[in-house]
Amino acid sequence: MGGGMVMEVDVAIVGGGMAGLALAVALQERGIQAHVFEKAPAKRKHFGTGMSIGQNGIRALEGIKPGLSEKMESLGQRTRQFTTTIRQPGEPEIKISPSSQLVASERMFTITWKSACDSLLDSLIDSDKVHRRHTLIDYKPVEDGVEALFEVQVDEASGLSTAETKVTAKLLVGADGVWSRVRELMVGDEPRNLNLVTWLGIVPTDIARSMQLHQDDEISFISYPSKRTGIITCHCGSGQSLWHFRIPDESGELMKSFTSDFHDHGQEARKMRVLKRIEAMKELQNMKTVIERTESSVIREDRNFDRLPLSSWSDPSGHVVLLGDAAHGMYPGPGMGARVAFEDAHQLALLLHEAFSSPTPATAVPAAIKRACLQSRKRRELRSSSDGSTSILPPWLEIQTPASGNRSKSQECEFLEYIYIYIYLYI
Ligand SMILES: Cc1cc2nc3c(=O)[nH]c(=O)nc-3n(C[C@H](O)[C@H](O)[C@H](O)COP(=O)(O)OP(=O)(O)OC[C@H]3O[C@@H](n4cnc5c(N)ncnc54)[C@H](O)[C@@H]3O)c2cc1C
Repeated sequence: MGGGMVMEVDVAIVGGGMAGLALAVALQERGIQAHVFEKAPAKRKHFGTGMSIGQNGIRALEGIKPGLSEKMESLGQRTRQFTTTIRQPGEPEIKISPSSQLVASERMFTITWKSACDSLLDSLIDSDKVHRRHTLIDYKPVEDGVEALFEVQVDEASGLSTAETKVTAKLLVGADGVWSRVRELMVGDEPRNLNLVTWLGIVPTDIARSMQLHQDDEISFISYPSKRTGIITCHCGSGQSLWHFRIPDESGELMKSFTSDFHDHGQEARKMRVLKRIEAMKELQNMKTVIERTESSVIREDRNFDRLPLSSWSDPSGHVVLLGDAAHGMYPGPGMGARVAFEDAHQLALLLHEAFSSPTPATAVPAAIKRACLQSRKRRELRSSSDGSTSILPPWLEIQTPASGNRSKSQECEFLEYIYIYIYLYI
């Protein structure tokens, strides 16, 4: 590794998404010197998406920093109803809301991605420890830790001029998403293409309300099982509503037409692509109007990928560990990505607090990381719902019966199997 700037930190977190920021908040709260290295040059102005946070995520947020879940909930919208509408060709529409009582008895809220991200950033004790324009290139083991090499974009305007920063840390955390460079270096496997395309957008709630897309306290899911297509709409607080439309793309033809840059001239093309798909569904004209009235700059278009479970999320030295989507990017159906990332951050922070409080953190940290899987019993307690049952899954998933030969259903089965391994076998 060549010259450039040198830094020494306790914990170097690669990636400033939900997982990385949540961990930084939790560690700084516990007096641990945690730095975030994020490749993006600035905080995003638009996210075009939102998320729902249920009991497991809320409890994890409370453990990360007291008051954090209330803060997020105050910016979001409490969920009290979940309605599923099933539309099959030639059959009467079926409306199911069996989970409404469960949803009402459990605390759950929806929030825009931007508000959730801002809440985490505002909760940092030392926001100067978030280093933007830092892209992890490589890492290597050193005595009692790891040395990470970052490429730093110096000239923000052109993006052409770069420098290097070497960071020595007792622990390197790969919270760098489903395309994780840390995982690539540590394991070498690749994300799996789910052959699904998702469009998401944020629109003023007045518009969604005028088109009767959802009630204020409702998450509405319209499912077309024969087309493997689904639409979710909900209010996310602050006068904003989320729409989410997913379709299969088995041949990959649709994906080939994408531009990956969220901010560039591809904005209008994204909007046209989703409108074209919605136009073909005659009974969704209200949805079409809402998409037409969504600013193209806040429409996201994503190819969905996941990550298969690993037998260990740390390297053999215990000085490098994966977190969030880098460890377990998931099938997006159950909407669990961010919640589980918060659980990861909370559990890792508890372990590291103990390790950094010991007289010999240099040996205690890797020992704690290696023990980490044994701590998943606590995760189970976090997930235990008020009636004592243990569930990482949102209640409505239980109404979906797995069927053979249906890819979407088999992905749900696979997800359930994964959760089973995750909850029970790592104890
Ligand atoms: C803008 C956005 C919107 C999303 N919307 C949804 C949604 O609506 N529903 C849902 O279920 N999931 C969504 N996801 C996925 C969701 O973020 C994850 O499931 C969950 O939040 C876990 O996040 P993460 O921090 O592990 O990964 P990510 O949110 O992907 O964050 C990873 C971060 O690492 C940074 N990074 C990547 N490589 C490097 C590198 N080499 N060096 C330094 N930094 C690097 C990225 O820029 C990014 O900020 C979204 C993700 C993003 C980024």
